[in-house]
Amino acid sequence: MGIELVPPTERVCERCGRRDEWDNETENWVIVGKSGSATCIHEWDINGTHDPINETA
Ligand SMILES: [Zn+2]
Repeated sequence: MGIELVPPTERVCERCGRRDEWDNETENWVIVGKSGSATCIHEWDINGTHDPINETA
């Protein structure tokens, strides 16, 4: 039994609320809903690289 990697098909920025969906045809993220802040350093909720320093924020 191996580890099944399921690529995320949706991501939401925890900072500005921007929501993206993965487009398989263009293989790119496309913005759905609100576009969020242009100056935001997006913090996507899907990856495992969440900065532990911000955990207590
Ligand atoms: Zn953002």
